[in-house]
Amino acid sequence: MAETKMIYLDNAATTKVKPEVFAAMKPYLEEQYGNPSSAYAFSGRIAQKVDESRKIIADFLGAKPNEIYFTGGGSESDNWTLKGIADAYKSKGNHIITTKIEHHAILHTGEYLEKHGCEVTYLNVDGDGKIDLKELEAAIRPETILISIMFANNEIGTIEPIKEIGRIAHEHGVLFHTDAVQAFGHVDIKVDELNIDLLSASGHKLNAPKGVGFLYIRKGIKIEPLIHGGAQERGKRAGTTNAAGIIAIGEAVRIASETLKERADYEIKLRDHLIERVLAEIPYCRLNGHRTDRLPNNTNFCFRFIEGESLLILLDKAGICGSSGSACTSGSLDPSHVLLAIGLPHEIAHGSLRLTLSEETTMEEIDYTVDKLKFIVERLRSMSPLYEDFVKKQGAKA
Ligand SMILES: *Cc1c(COP(=O)(O)O)cnc(C)c1O
Repeated sequence: MAETKMIYLDNAATTKVKPEVFAAMKPYLEEQYGNPSSAYAFSGRIAQKVDESRKIIADFLGAKPNEIYFTGGGSESDNWTLKGIADAYKSKGNHIITTKIEHHAILHTGEYLEKHGCEVTYLNVDGDGKIDLKELEAAIRPETILISIMFANNEIGTIEPIKEIGRIAHEHGVLFHTDAVQAFGHVDIKVDELNIDLLSASGHKLNAPKGVGFLYIRKGIKIEPLIHGGAQERGKRAGTTNAAGIIAIGEAVRIASETLKERADYEIKLRDHLIERVLAEIPYCRLNGHRTDRLPNNTNFCFRFIEGESLLILLDKAGICGSSGSACTSGSLDPSHVLLAIGLPHEIAHGSLRLTLSEETTMEEIDYTVDKLKFIVERLRSMSPLYEDFVKKQGAKA
């Protein structure tokens, strides 16, 4: 009964570990399992491999290896930034600026800091999910210490005007952090050109395993550690070095850096085909997020008169993995904070579907998905009293 074919279109939630990445990390679990901080030669080679990873990542960002600090993932890097900067710069000020559409790793950390004496401004976004640079500039106060704005949104894929945000931050002597978890490895990021002072990234969004990520911290910036303990990561992030994970993320970044452009071009072709077909063939639906300033692999739609959850269940039955909003909020009945922030009413925000592609996605899979989606949307609408009413009213008007 169950279809054997599985089409994975939830790459914004997590990605598969590439075979090359697994092959690179495997010896560091099975054979070279030593603690890289130990003195004997057995561990020395591991420390060297860890530093190679650091260099690959630094080169990719146009940064220096000693500006890369490995962490346990994106959430940790985001937490560290907000808490660590708030702490280190408290004599300068207590004000942080972010947006209403950040990942919860930023939003909930902001809320936590508000309970501990910080003030946080959450900027609005427009209908496409972009911040207004004038609103940003107007929000800066003498006590502002940090602007934290995501590179690209994890739900709707919109890419923010990062370079301009960084320029404004620097004109006012404020640090600029970007949560680049979704963008890193998918769009070209050079920290100097884009005026970025701190940047969060995560391995599992880029074909490395879960539980490893990093924070780029520009040299000279003060930051209090989040994890206290041993002297790893130059005394800034304690905990026995996750050598295998770090070697894996290094390999994933090496591959990503060599294939960035062709991968993006390929994904954009599939993405645009998916968007064009859905908008042309399914009535009463809209694309969420900016049409062109968006991640190469992201699509996000709202279908009126439909619950996103029902859509996901029927897609799953057809062997298609998608998501409604973000993996982190599913399970709760609240509509996505991102869709509400771009101005969608609750009833429309409920009917959302995010499909995020990878370089392994094929055109056949996209076409199959759209065909199924059309059928499922029709079927759900045929059972919806709201839709029935709507059609009656349309009929009466005509
Ligand atoms: C996934 C994600 C995170 C969290 O990263 P983890 O490594 O899963 O902790 C943070 N920010 C954004 C934008 C994300 O997409």
